[in-house]
Amino acid sequence: MKYIGAHVSASGGVFNAPKNAHDIGADAFALFTKNQRRWEAKPLDENTIRKFKAACIRYKIQSANILPHDSYLINLGHPEPEALQKSRAAFLDEMQRCEQLGLTLLNFHPGSHLKKISEADCLKRIAESINLSLQQTQSVTAVIENTAGQGTNLGYRFEHLARIIEQVDDKQRVGVCLDTCHTFVAGYDLRTPEATEATFQAYSDIVGFEYLRAMHINDSKVKFGSRVDRHAPLGAGEIGWDCFEFIMKDPRFNDIPLILETTDEQLWPEEIKQLKQWAEN
Ligand SMILES: [Zn+2]
Ligand SMILES: [Zn+2]
Repeated sequence: MKYIGAHVSASGGVFNAPKNAHDIGADAFALFTKNQRRWEAKPLDENTIRKFKAACIRYKIQSANILPHDSYLINLGHPEPEALQKSRAAFLDEMQRCEQLGLTLLNFHPGSHLKKISEADCLKRIAESINLSLQQTQSVTAVIENTAGQGTNLGYRFEHLARIIEQVDDKQRVGVCLDTCHTFVAGYDLRTPEATEATFQAYSDIVGFEYLRAMHINDSKVKFGSRVDRHAPLGAGEIGWDCFEFIMKDPRFNDIPLILETTDEQLWPEEIKQLKQWAEN
């Protein structure tokens, strides 16, 4: 079964997100559990937690299909000790918020070396950061998102993801979210069914589908291999529909949240409808 949704608004409270997802025909969704542009957030209170869980039940969306995204400020591979510590503390707080909400996944961008340490050292720090957060929590899986490779962001090569996972102690609680836009601009072609097959074969060989916990389904406004992160509505970018039809018909993408982060929210109901049509046929 394919579970399809979008990164929906949680404004007014996280408990509004399940209805926002339901309203666009989604049976999966992504959200921020706090303001993604701030370090501090007030703790979740009992009432918020209760209302969130009730809304998930009411709209029949299971925690396995809900993909919280962490704050954009966090850099788990930060070269400087103080900033690394701040990021690790904020990431642990994000994980604990997920646990409080009964959520089992936390999606994050791996980190940036800021030209101050080597790629290998940065990947090692990221893995250590994951290890520390897993040691202090019980039920949340750390879901590493592949990146576009803008600036000094790591995670744009499948080898980066594999190197991080290799160094994580608890392999049961580490996973991957592949973003189709990031994959494409990082230099893995998705423009034809053949190219898409080859790209996912490379992912399978280097990382493995056993680690795939989620997908971000986005077209790309910018050219192949450009290493620039600009999402586009499905079919309106450089990737085109073939890749999305391929994913919907391939059982390797069953039973994980498939999340739109496309740029025109008005199109989400139509995009979900089109994707579901392919999944069902
Ligand atoms: Zn993404
Ligand atoms: Zn992106």
